[in-house]
Amino acid sequence: MLSQIAIAALLASVAASPYDKRQSLGLVENCYHDFAITFDDGSVGSEYDLVDLFNENDSKATMFLNGYNYNCIYEQDSVDRIRNTYNSGMQIGSHTWSHRNLAELSEAEIDEQVELVNEAIWKIVGVRPKFLRPPYGSAPEWAVNYIQEKHGMVVVNWSEDSLDSQGASTDESIGIYDGFTDTTEPHLTLNHETYEGTPYTVMPSVVPSLVDRGYRLITVADCLDLEPYLEVGEPQERDETWTCDGKPAPLGY
Ligand SMILES: [Zn+2]
Repeated sequence: MLSQIAIAALLASVAASPYDKRQSLGLVENCYHDFAITFDDGSVGSEYDLVDLFNENDSKATMFLNGYNYNCIYEQDSVDRIRNTYNSGMQIGSHTWSHRNLAELSEAEIDEQVELVNEAIWKIVGVRPKFLRPPYGSAPEWAVNYIQEKHGMVVVNWSEDSLDSQGASTDESIGIYDGFTDTTEPHLTLNHETYEGTPYTVMPSVVPSLVDRGYRLITVADCLDLEPYLEVGEPQERDETWTCDGKPAPLGY
């Protein structure tokens, strides 16, 4: 009988098979249909409240997670929270390991940024994300193509920015969402878990309002008719590799 390690290795070898370039999408900047709300820079504590809010409104969101940014993904608080998010049917994506600007990295550094957080998410919930949100939205064409061809991942930005990270007030962010009226137009919006106004003022107004107005709030994968994950397995038990020590540290901005 195959051990769990042998099965994991087998699955990894399947995932590493040559990526089919006919599936090349380039940089994705909108959904094909419906409405996907996305949150960057977590996982942080407000994620529990966001997950509850979306669930209460029969809706789904997508969280693009860092490995080591506001905190370390392997802290038990983060592990518990990410498992709750995944088990609630939200989509988990990559926002890279330590939030570096891809334009400033070598291919080897991109590999590290991609693989470290994918490995963490694989250990914590048992999936490897298919979607990557580049830090700062910085997505030079060479990096988009490299990530797609080397790692089989889709790089996704947004169609509208809530401007929460750009100094907008909560009223201004709500106003951006209130401006959407044609439910046949797709949207893919950028928000951050880490600005208090977003989970506690903007989203509690926007999510029920969009649903009332007839929008369907779905994951990025669903709004693009793609699978959310490269690989699906089982969550693992904590061991000595569950640490951010010795791995690239956040730059602190
Ligand atoms: Zn970010």
